[in-house]
Amino acid sequence: MPANTNNPLKRTWLPVPESSDFPIQNIPFGVFLTRDDIITIGTRIGDHAIDLGALHQLGYFDGIPLTDDIFLQDTLNDFISDGKKTWRLVRNRIGEIFDRDNTGLQNREDHKKTVLFSLDEIEMKLPVQIGDYTDFYSSKEHATNVGSMFRDPEKALMPNWLHIPVGYHGRSSTIVPSGTPVHRPMGQTLPKEAKTPLFGPSKRVDFELEMAFITTDANVLGEAVPIEEAEDYIFGMVLLNDWSARDIQKWEYVPLGPFLAKNFASSISPWIVTMDALQPFRVDSPGQSPEPLPYLVQQGEHGFDIKLEVDITPENGEPTTVSRSNFKYMYWTMAQQLAHHTVNGCTVNSGDMMGSGTISGPTPDSYGSMLELAWQGTKPVQLRGGGERTFIEDNDTVTMRGYCEKGGARIGFGELSGKLLPAKRPKGK
Ligand code: CA
Repeated sequence: MPANTNNPLKRTWLPVPESSDFPIQNIPFGVFLTRDDIITIGTRIGDHAIDLGALHQLGYFDGIPLTDDIFLQDTLNDFISDGKKTWRLVRNRIGEIFDRDNTGLQNREDHKKTVLFSLDEIEMKLPVQIGDYTDFYSSKEHATNVGSMFRDPEKALMPNWLHIPVGYHGRSSTIVPSGTPVHRPMGQTLPKEAKTPLFGPSKRVDFELEMAFITTDANVLGEAVPIEEAEDYIFGMVLLNDWSARDIQKWEYVPLGPFLAKNFASSISPWIVTMDALQPFRVDSPGQSPEPLPYLVQQGEHGFDIKLEVDITPENGEPTTVSRSNFKYMYWTMAQQLAHHTVNGCTVNSGDMMGSGTISGPTPDSYGSMLELAWQGTKPVQLRGGGERTFIEDNDTVTMRGYCEKGGARIGFGELSGKLLPAKRPKGK
């Protein structure tokens, strides 16, 4: 059964602004709070949010095997557990209900009143309860840049990097949806020339431009997911800003890797764009040399052409786009990451989130962090309207966008936005 709603010629009876990220070809999934303070699972077309719980109660999903309360929940985890076949049936049905030629819901003013919301009537929540969060480090350009700065340009990549999709286990308790402000973290740093560490607010808060994928239940303890099947266990993708404190990171990361420099906040975009919606935007991923070990070898196109942008907006200032990158630059694919993650028998569950790692492109304007864009503070980035930045300052807002375009069809992720607030000092310190 194909993903019928991907046809670029398909049109909906709902208004869709030009260049919207959310035409009928997208149909993402999210969770929102309605004007009546009810939490529900929904989708979005144009600038309308659609209450899937209400649609289901009105019988619009009849014939699809779904429990009565599948959409009347505050997370998508159970729906994601239902598996790929059900996701596609539901997405295709939504495409039919809102098709321009379908007069069913279109002519029912009473139903439309309970199902449709304008965006200012809702508040987006985290779409899933994220059990485990893993962050990879899969952009060769990013790993090379960081290795050049922190170690040696001649040996920028660690010896394992071209053989293993390197990653670490992050922390899910501090993953927040777009719009949630983040405080500058307090912590230990060892300033240059200092002999002993200091305690205070981080002076080098950075963004990391990443994308993340959300999984369904993939395996049982002890069983690996074969690479050929890995994509079947990926529900969809979101934008991820993996906020980082570079000065804390530099002092703490040897020998066990990132800790408090990374887990004070990670922001994600609220609508999960499904892998079905992303199919038309598949591309080859960069070639891999040397060839990986057999359990990581795959055939076909497993990259995705997703254009990415980052803006910095100072308080009362105008936005400056500081980076333009693309998800297609990733060296390791999502399937390789998932196959590697489970090759030792590690369990992956519905609602787990896997970050790509910072997505840097080949040119200096496509780097995915301030660390690289301003090259460790040595090349300040100029802002429109005056001022410059080497890292993120208090009350700056960081906004990320991602979208795919091909043959006149466009889908996207909307915006991921977060404001950096001043540090909260512990009492008496
Ligand atoms: Ca990261």
